Amino acid sequence: MNRYVLRCVKCGREYEDDGFRLRCDEDHEPAVLRTVYTKKSFSLQEHLPGMFKYYDLLPVHRILEGGAAPVTYKSERLSRYLGLDNLYIIFNGYWPERNAFMETASFKELEAPSVLARIPKDHHGTIVVASAGNTGRAFAHICSRNHIPLLLVIPEDSADQIWSIKPFRDNVKLICASGSSDYYDAIKLAEQIINLDGFFPEGGAFNVARRDGMATTVLDCSYGAGRIPDHYFQAIGSGTGGIAAWECSLKLLGDGGYGQKRMKLHLSQNYPFVPITETWNRGLKNIPPLDEEDAKMQIHETCAKVLSNRQPPYSIRGGVYDVLTASSGYTYSVTNEEVFLAMRTFEEYEGIDICPEAGVAIGSLIQAIQQKKVEKDDLIALNITGGGERRVKRDNEVYFLEPFIKFTDKEINGKGIRKKLEDIFVVR
Ligand SMILES: [Zn+2]
Repeated sequence: MNRYVLRCVKCGREYEDDGFRLRCDEDHEPAVLRTVYTKKSFSLQEHLPGMFKYYDLLPVHRILEGGAAPVTYKSERLSRYLGLDNLYIIFNGYWPERNAFMETASFKELEAPSVLARIPKDHHGTIVVASAGNTGRAFAHICSRNHIPLLLVIPEDSADQIWSIKPFRDNVKLICASGSSDYYDAIKLAEQIINLDGFFPEGGAFNVARRDGMATTVLDCSYGAGRIPDHYFQAIGSGTGGIAAWECSLKLLGDGGYGQKRMKLHLSQNYPFVPITETWNRGLKNIPPLDEEDAKMQIHETCAKVLSNRQPPYSIRGGVYDVLTASSGYTYSVTNEEVFLAMRTFEEYEGIDICPEAGVAIGSLIQAIQQKKVEKDDLIALNITGGGERRVKRDNEVYFLEPFIKFTDKEINGKGIRKKLEDIFVVR
């Protein structure tokens, strides 16, 4: 008997997992599939490496090396400074003293192993991943470590994000979208490549393994605290992490051993690029079309650059709008000044450097406290999505992945791109 099935949130149709399915076959609006596990409660598989200790709630068929698990602890100093009694920090990154060993210093290291371990082992295609930076770093790290072919597509601005503390193996290739390209241009380039023979898409928010992988943050916190958090704070780009967190809270409600209180989502973006925050706060179900130049200019002004998805899965069924609605959630706009202050505050009180995106989440928590959206004794989960990058780079030698080809945004959006890609990738 299979450990799980995939169920469409729109029509309820169920599918056995072939390791690749992203969507429902029925003719209806775009909707996510969710995993439904036969076993309603999970037990920790401590003998498995990293995040695979949550194997019971991961849609995977094998175990991969090189990834780590989130580490949850109850904050004392930052908690006291903020006037909270029950602040749990879900730390994703590198912090040896806390037993946190994500070598990429990012919680994207929770997505890559589960996505890759969902693919049948005997499959020979190359997975294509478009990334604004840290997702790409995580996939490159895990693929290199496990000899899995990867084609990574990123905006050139993010090339310095693709580093590792071990040299990359040849099975990992990098393409850059150059010129004034952003993440969205990288996504468009990747979409062209997956149409070629031998390549397949990672799937983004539609991939159940990506979401269940990220959801281990909520599992870890709930397991550590003994119940589902009242509030969950995370910075978002696409919002996939928010969707994943909510889905996980539903699974824990189904388990029954973690309380019956619904978790409230608090999702944040970095001003001035705040399409999800603005859309939610205006009560809209669809994100109004963004002017490309305006959006790129706004992204340029943010300090948390990876939160820069111009086409987030907001209005799809089971997407960001639906999970915010179901959780009676909130969204926040956090300025660069608030982010820098939050980063300094965290390092001062908790003792490790964190990434700007984690600073966005802390900035939103500070706003929530000021706006009385949380109570002093509420159980609050704060997802520190990346930390210890400075530390890991100080303790180790760092290697960068060099692009083997670049395309400008004009080329990517021009008519000749398919021919150019075929010339490179298609064996005739
Ligand atoms: Zn369906």
